[in-house]
This record gives sequence, C-alpha cells and structure tokens, in this order.
Amino acid sequence: MKQKGGYPVHVVVGSMGAKTSPLLYCPICGKQVFALGDERGKIDPCPHLAFLLLDDTDCYESDDYRTREQNLQAQVIEHDEFDDYLIALGYDASLLVLEASATGYKEEPVTVAVMAGFDMGKVA
Ligand SMILES: [Zn+2]
Repeated sequence: MKQKGGYPVHVVVGSMGAKTSPLLYCPICGKQVFALGDERGKIDPCPHLAFLLLDDTDCYESDDYRTREQNLQAQVIEHDEFDDYLIALGYDASLLVLEASATGYKEEPVTVAVMAGFDMGKVA
C-alpha cells in the first residue's frame, strides 16, 4: 500500500460561522464550496474538492475520488477510522480534511456537520 506521504491532514474547525452558517472555503483557490442552503446544504465544488460529507452522508465525490473507491472495492481492506480509509484510497499528507460542525439559521436553527477533503497535490 502506498503510504510514503504520511497521513492526510485533518483539521476540525469547531465554531466556524456559528452565528450564521457553517461555511467552507477551499484553502487553495478560496472558492466557497459549502453553505447552508434551502435543503440543509448547498455544495458548489471547486477542482480541488475531493469529497464532501454532510452529516456522514456522501454528498459530493470528485471523479478522482470515485475512481479510487472503485479500485478499492476490488480489494478487501478493513478500516476503523475514516483517515485510514483515506490512506487505503491512496491519499497522503497532500490531502487536507476540514471538518466543521455548527448551528446555522435558516428559518429555524439547523445543526449540520460537514467534512470536506481538499487535494492540495492537485494543481488546477
Ligand atoms: Zn479549490
């Protein structure tokens, strides 16, 4: 298994946008990839976004991520932690995982948990 580049960098951003809504910006190009929308979340991917999970549900997968998952499904790999799963997918320290959990306000208070992976190794 490829593991020369180390583990993905995993950052938990607790109170991000807590007063309004959890927002996620791409650290590479600065594009806002997530905002609280009419139906819990609005996802607007940029080329660096590998995946975005909303409340543990797959909401966005890049073609690259999907290809990695398909390749992985041919093998049987146990994974306890999500970071281990990312390693199994072949990601390394060039993947930045941002996790944000916050209460937003959209007519009534909504709490969402978002986890997004940005591929820093991808130049686009
Ligand atoms: Zn980007």
